[in-house]
Parts: sequence; structure tokens; C-alpha cells
Amino acid sequence: MQPGRRPLIAGNWKMNGLKADSSARVRNLATLLRGAAGLPAEIVVCPPATQIAAVVEAAAGTPILVGGQDCHGQPKGAHTGDVSAPMLADLGCRYVIVGHSERRANHGEGDALVAAKAAAVRAAGLVPIICIGETAAERNAGQAVAVAGRQIDASVPAGTTPANTVIAYEPVWAIGTGRTPTIEEIAEMHAAIRARLVGRFGAPAAGVRVLYGGSMKPENAGPILQVADVDGGLIGGASLEAADFFAICRASGPEASAGD
Ligand code: PEP
Repeated sequence: MQPGRRPLIAGNWKMNGLKADSSARVRNLATLLRGAAGLPAEIVVCPPATQIAAVVEAAAGTPILVGGQDCHGQPKGAHTGDVSAPMLADLGCRYVIVGHSERRANHGEGDALVAAKAAAVRAAGLVPIICIGETAAERNAGQAVAVAGRQIDASVPAGTTPANTVIAYEPVWAIGTGRTPTIEEIAEMHAAIRARLVGRFGAPAAGVRVLYGGSMKPENAGPILQVADVDGGLIGGASLEAADFFAICRASGPEASAGD
């Protein structure tokens, strides 16, 4: 992390739990956070769409912000079953994940659609967390940096600034597998992503936060979050346990390097 870029720790709860589970998880997290005043990180949880209202209510008066896991690229219309960015804003969301690899793989979402979704999120006054990352085959072929560069070019809309965009670098092969890149590989990818952002959007884009995601746990969060170009994490499995997620939030603080 660098001065000027506030760390962001975001939990992606995916399709898990019911309202009561999610509300209880937020309350537990809020209790843990109350005992750790002064943590520098911005903390976001992204529940399933049906649980957002309950989670927003449970998070009221706490530092916990709420995000969506996906949205449609249009603000309204004949799109049965979809949820729009203005609807997420209406519920009290501040962020929306777009382009997660599970959406790209399971729903055939390509870069152009991801860019449209990100633009729709911005138009609703929210901040997209735009996910990019290579598959195992692409990494094994030595294509990881090139793939991330292409995804930055095609998935990130024009007009990107540090205030209106967050990027999450999530190697597909690391998601939910317990495998992570080495610290050196993470550092290389994040530096390349930042350079590509600056090349495309100019010097101010050096301030865009770039999160790491993929099997981040309390045990490995400290060293990953201390990498210079890593500005936080997007956490899946470990965000479902309030104590684990809290431990990752703590690892984003300056005191973490002293012993956590
Ligand atoms: C994710 O799905 O965004 C993710 C990072 O999952 P996990 O932490 O479980 O690998």
C-alpha cells in the first residue's frame, strides 16, 4: 500500500446464507471492529441481492459499507430477473462488483458487457469493483500480464479516476482453490496493472486502488497486503467468517507488519 490510497477490504459472500445469517455476520463483524478503532481500511461486504436490505440495516451506524455482487448494464427495462445499479443505490449500496470470473465463466460475460456494467454503476453514483485476471492456462503460457492488460483496456470504461473505480486482480486459478501466486508474482501483476492504468488514463490513475483476490486468508493476508501496489483485498470464502474477515482487515493496517 502507498500513502494516498486508502486500503479497501471487500467481502464477496457469493450465493450463501439467508437474511438472518448475513445480518448476524455483520453484527459480529461490527462488534470486532468496535474493538479495533483506527483501522485504516475501508470495509465493504457484498451480500446476495436478496439480503442487501437486511445487511444495510444491520450495518447502519457501523463503518461497514455494503456492495452488490453484479448488476445489469442498463438502468431499467425489460430484463426479467436482473437488478440495476440504481436499484442497488436505492438499497444503500456504495460499491458493485462487476466482471467477476464466475460471471464471466458461468454467464458468458465478456469485456464489453463488463465495461457497460461498470459504466452503469458509475452512472448510478456507485463505484464498480472491476475484476480481471488470467486463467491457469494463460499463466502457464506466460500470458498473465498481457491478459490483464487486455482486460484493463476492454473492461474498464473511459473516464476512470481513483474516485470512481476500483480494480480487483483475481487470478482465476486462485479463486476458491487455496492456491495463490507468489508474493513476487502478485507484485509483478499489480505493478503491470497500475502501469497500464496510467498508460491509458494518465498520471492520476496511479491513485486507482488495485485489490488482490484469490484464496486470501488470515494466514497469508499480511504479506500480500504489504506489497507496494496492493491496495486491499477482495475476499470470498474467508469473508463468510466474521473473525477471519476481521483478521484480514487488521492485516491491512500499519501495525500488522509488526507481528500479525
Ligand atoms: C472471489 O471469489 O472473489 C474470491 C477471491 O474467492 P476466494 O477468496 O474464496 O478465493
